[in-house]
Amino acid sequence: MNPFHYTACTDIDSALAAMASHNGTNPCQARFVAGGTNLIDLMKERLAHPSALIDINGLPLADIAPTDDGGLRLGALARNADTADHPLVRARYPLLRAAILAGASPQLRNMASNGGNLLQRTRCYYFYDADVPCNKHTPGSGCPATKGLARQHAIFGASTHCIATHPSDMCVALAALEAVVHVQSVRGRRAIPFATFHRLPEDRPEVDTTLAPDELITHIDLPPAQPGFAVHSTYLKLRERASYAFAMMSVAAALDIGEDGRVRTARVVLGGVAHKPWRNVPAESLLVGKVAERASFMAVADAVMADARPAGGPGVPESSRGNSWKIPMAHRAIVRALEMATQGIPSNTGEDGARCRGEQPA
Ligand code: SF4
Repeated sequence: MNPFHYTACTDIDSALAAMASHNGTNPCQARFVAGGTNLIDLMKERLAHPSALIDINGLPLADIAPTDDGGLRLGALARNADTADHPLVRARYPLLRAAILAGASPQLRNMASNGGNLLQRTRCYYFYDADVPCNKHTPGSGCPATKGLARQHAIFGASTHCIATHPSDMCVALAALEAVVHVQSVRGRRAIPFATFHRLPEDRPEVDTTLAPDELITHIDLPPAQPGFAVHSTYLKLRERASYAFAMMSVAAALDIGEDGRVRTARVVLGGVAHKPWRNVPAESLLVGKVAERASFMAVADAVMADARPAGGPGVPESSRGNSWKIPMAHRAIVRALEMATQGIPSNTGEDGARCRGEQPA
């Protein structure tokens, strides 16, 4: 691990000023640190080399509170566990709760901050080896995953420079709920719609988000809950072992279903399949006005998966690419998630006890 300066701040202005001063004088940029559950690992693995760490755990950004418009404000420093357990998240946004509880372990959720969850980096095997080429940690060095092990890699939005996926569960739900990320720097404040917060790799895979290096995430706003989503939402996560594993793919599905059984609003977002949570708005709009039933869900899955391609480099046949299995699996996962949402089953991961299996709580 490289030497670095350490500064602990207790107010936002001091933290932003510290960031501005470090980034103005050092070739390696300073980084804000909160839970440190990804950043410290990256530093130990020689994949992050900040010149300074600005500890923001003392900043007043841990509150979770209703907004004037009926939504909910999630402080960037609220811990993932506290967010999942908050009464208003439980009551109004169970999709977010289910996604958070599907991720990591209880110990990690106790440490990980909401802001940090958005900034975690890919779990591509090659990325985590500082001694192999990788365009994400060493721009221009190449992407061995395109000709190597790509089992967990992208089927949407990949480029020839990078086929990595975003690992977060929480972000998949935030995309489905149309959250807005609020950020601040010494230059001012701005709000970033969740759909544009993470970016596709294109020819700059080393850049994961549209956040500027000196910007601090202050909070994440959820719009007022859609009628019906509190009952008809699901986070379906498919992984290689039953707990404490990143998603090979996931689906956040939410439906507002009228008394006539027809869908008024639908959200379908996939995780583990692209460099960002993957949402296809035209495809999910196919459900509007349709009866919430398997035939309607199949049509949505057909439309979403029409754009899917197994990732791999030139000369590697699509049929032999390591992640081609994800395409039929994701199709089935979309249909299953929408069926679970219709039935009011919030999760397949068992974190929520009996409700996760579709049973009535005792
Ligand atoms: Fe690196 Fe992206 Fe290629 Fe993985 S997929 S080796 S992160 S460039």
